[in-house]
Amino acid sequence: EQEVLCQYIGRETVTADGERKEVCCNIGNLKDAAAAAEKDGEGIGLFRSEFLFMDKKDAPGEEEQFAAYKKAAEVFKGKPVIIRTLDVGGDKGIPYLSMGQEDNPFLGFRGIRYCLAHGDLYDTQLRAIIRASAFGKVRIMVPLVTGVDEIRAVREKVQIITREFEQTGVEYDRNLQVGIMVETPAASLIADLLAEESDFFSIGTNDLTQYTMAADRGNSQVAYLNNPYEPAVLRSIRRIIRCGKEAGIPVGMCGEAAADPLLTPLLLAFGLDEFSVSPASVLATRYNISKWTKREAEAAADQVMKLKTADAVKAFLINLNK
Ligand code: PEP
Ligand code: MG
Repeated sequence: EQEVLCQYIGRETVTADGERKEVCCNIGNLKDAAAAAEKDGEGIGLFRSEFLFMDKKDAPGEEEQFAAYKKAAEVFKGKPVIIRTLDVGGDKGIPYLSMGQEDNPFLGFRGIRYCLAHGDLYDTQLRAIIRASAFGKVRIMVPLVTGVDEIRAVREKVQIITREFEQTGVEYDRNLQVGIMVETPAASLIADLLAEESDFFSIGTNDLTQYTMAADRGNSQVAYLNNPYEPAVLRSIRRIIRCGKEAGIPVGMCGEAAADPLLTPLLLAFGLDEFSVSPASVLATRYNISKWTKREAEAAADQVMKLKTADAVKAFLINLNK
């Protein structure tokens, strides 16, 4: 297995019929960034910036964040580095960011909701990311979006900051892209509307599954529902990719499902462009993608999307046996 995978080092990611795809990495810090480069990731599909905020007494300031984002951009010179803005709340509590006590933290003050309510904290992060964009292909990604207002609010902040940078001569990438995580049922249902206002989508299947199935991703009693083979989840994924494609924006996936070999044919059939996985899974994912032609993947997807249960879906995919 390891020997087979080694053949994929330094190669482009292509399907069996030559369609170009991208395998990028999910990282939480600069050590992971080095691992991602070493394991031949084609960029960073998800930089979980909240890790810069953990195990500290205070929020990192603009300079500290800038240094980290700049370094990541430099490690992946010229390749995309998607920095997800602070995704706190849910299970990710940060003691000095007073979140308050919540009965249902996953349904509460989380991700972009928290950030828009704490404008100074968010501006500091956006400034750091935008400055880092002068050093590579940095992109901004907004977590837990549920409506068009949220992406608009972020864009407005970015515009205010870049206008200031123009006046003061601070360098940044004038083509800086702003995209969103599609990881809530609301975002999936209005993916057509969100696609008109986003430069890219990245599907967060960990949260998309939890929220679609109404099953806490950390609760072992309902773990059986936290299952991306559920027809409801697959339909949602298909819809998100379709809406992105129709709007002409790239669609990636940074949830764990992106690295699942059983799901590869479905994601290819739906038209996913970018797979973002842990550094350790880059080569295996590239290899799995290389096995499928569009036609074969579509034939499999046609069958799978008729199935009615997660078990039936999984059994069918296992039987494909590629
Ligand atoms: C996801 O929800 O799928 C995701 C990639 O984000 P996180 O796991 O950090 O919530
Ligand atoms: Mg998420």
